[in-house]
Amino acid sequence: MNWRDRLNRFMYGRYGQDQFSRFLLAVCLVLLVLSFFVRIPELSLLVLLLLGYVYFRMLSRNVPARYAENQKFLELKGKVLGFFKGKSSRAEKQGDHMIFRCPKCSQKIRIPRGKGMVEITCPKCRTRFRKRT
Ligand SMILES: [Zn+2]
Repeated sequence: MNWRDRLNRFMYGRYGQDQFSRFLLAVCLVLLVLSFFVRIPELSLLVLLLLGYVYFRMLSRNVPARYAENQKFLELKGKVLGFFKGKSSRAEKQGDHMIFRCPKCSQKIRIPRGKGMVEITCPKCRTRFRKRT
């Protein structure tokens, strides 16, 4: 019997890896790298606890409970990703410019978004006005 068969036999009936485990492992890695730069003693303890939790989940025989955890994680992840996606697509829809109308001659003027308060000079009648972008 080779090591792979042994591993399979050992892992039989156990939960194994899922997206939640991989995410936690990634968090561990980030914290580990972070712990090289900042001297927080609790950080390595946190990494150890997280790793312990990941292995506990992988070797767990309570598959439905682990499955439910993963579903919860995926749901949360979907919400977070959806939040950022919704934000970026909304910005795309409106474009990165805003349209203002000159208060005097109603000339349409395109102004880049997100510049804060700007003074706009109408290209047609030279009227100056301030708008928030
Ligand atoms: Zn004008």
